[in-house]
Amino acid sequence: MPHKGYRQTTEHRARLSAARKGRKSPLRYTNEQFEAEFWGKVLDPDPKTGCMLFGGALDSHGYGVVSKDRTTRKAHIVSAELNFGLIPKGLEVCHQCDTQPCVNPYHLFIGTHSENMLALFLKKQGMPSPFSA
Ligand SMILES: [Zn+2]
Repeated sequence: MPHKGYRQTTEHRARLSAARKGRKSPLRYTNEQFEAEFWGKVLDPDPKTGCMLFGGALDSHGYGVVSKDRTTRKAHIVSAELNFGLIPKGLEVCHQCDTQPCVNPYHLFIGTHSENMLALFLKKQGMPSPFSA
């Protein structure tokens, strides 16, 4: 997929500020520069799906990856942490939309491994996720 240049639209900004209002726990990323760079790599939301694809590096599974403190982290997890706060140990960040490079916080849900597996199982049966918003 060719990367188009990043344009921050009004809608994009509104979504981000709305998403940020929902966050509760203290953030690990106090570095505003990092946050600005991260969102700078995110493409405009897809008008049909609302998916916000990560336009930076992708790993072999198609997940966006970013470097932070000399470690490589998955972009959707970073997005969840920026918006909702640190993910508690033992919980996973999963996509509602099944789009690996998507970092739209509205498309992510946080649950235990077994909840994620249950959601995946139901999805394969064509049933809605019990964790959708
Ligand atoms: Zn998505």
